Amino acid sequence: MTVWDDLVGQADVIDSLQASVTAADAALHGELTAGMTHAWLFTGPPGSGRSNAARAFAAALLCDQGGCGSCLACRTALAGSHADVTRVVTDQPVIRVDAVRELVRHAALAPAGNRWQLMIVEDADRLTDSAADALLKSIEEPPPRTVWLLCAPTVEDVAPTIRSRCRSLVLRTPPTAAVAAYLTERDKVPAPVAAFAARASQGHIGRARALALNEASRNRRREVLRVPGQLKDLGSCLTCAANLMEAATEEAQPRVEALDAEELRDLETVYGAGTRGVKSTGFAAAAKELQKNQKQRAKRFVRERHRPFPSRPRLLLPRRGRGAARLTGGAGQRRAAARRRYDGAQHDAGDVNAQVGRDLRHPRGA
Ligand SMILES: [Zn+2]
Repeated sequence: MTVWDDLVGQADVIDSLQASVTAADAALHGELTAGMTHAWLFTGPPGSGRSNAARAFAAALLCDQGGCGSCLACRTALAGSHADVTRVVTDQPVIRVDAVRELVRHAALAPAGNRWQLMIVEDADRLTDSAADALLKSIEEPPPRTVWLLCAPTVEDVAPTIRSRCRSLVLRTPPTAAVAAYLTERDKVPAPVAAFAARASQGHIGRARALALNEASRNRRREVLRVPGQLKDLGSCLTCAANLMEAATEEAQPRVEALDAEELRDLETVYGAGTRGVKSTGFAAAAKELQKNQKQRAKRFVRERHRPFPSRPRLLLPRRGRGAARLTGGAGQRRAAARRRYDGAQHDAGDVNAQVGRDLRHPRGA
């Protein structure tokens, strides 16, 4: 097992990342090497795994064995709870300049461990022009142990000033056979189902897994494919739309509720709400802000129900005053991570879920 296991059909990309991990290791030991750089741009079609690639690379850079996949550093980095991995995700149309300034400030700090600090921006195509400018300085003159990993659908989606300073890695649409093999190996899906899911998803790993693992997803797909034949007049169109909406809401509900409840518990932990003797100033306002964001997210989950949900919990902490800090968290370290980040490097990166609307193109704006 290695950190690269979830990258499907991307042998070339894995080769060059592995070479850079070796070079990075040499750099840590004081050797001069040209194989590593401080800014990377991962691009590729939806579902090709560009953010997985960035996360795997982060894990490999933090692992003493170059990405074994099983040590604590690998596991926490992949799960998003490693202290030296900051991951920015958004479901807002743009990432604004104040969010990026916070990130840049955080990037200037030395890593908590003795290796690297990784800043993963999953939606670099959503940086506003001013946000891109703010990021530029940190990419041009990077702190010695900080590495920026930016992800976007295509190179052209990222401001020219930024992309010209990044090393570009292009992921391809994984071949159907590779997706099917991945499903059989990783999820023990029977071969015929895996082959069907791989074909139907057209190389989108998340969709392929949803189709392969969830019978309801397969049934729903069948129903959706039947829709065009049922559209005879305005009435039937409206009925079909209402049915689709109802099904999507029903499907999203349990997962949305679980995620919401978990985030509220995290928020209570951070504020010490309910702890005897602790006066949790500001908790009510923070909870209100959280609920507002959760409502927005729930709507988008319904709209984009084919998107896979995040594989790990997300911590969402409203910051004092304005906006909300959305930070990643993981099981055991959650409270410590929450405190550390809340006190130190809050960053406001739009709403919590990157899964949502990521592949839509949005006009840049200030
Ligand atoms: Zn490892």
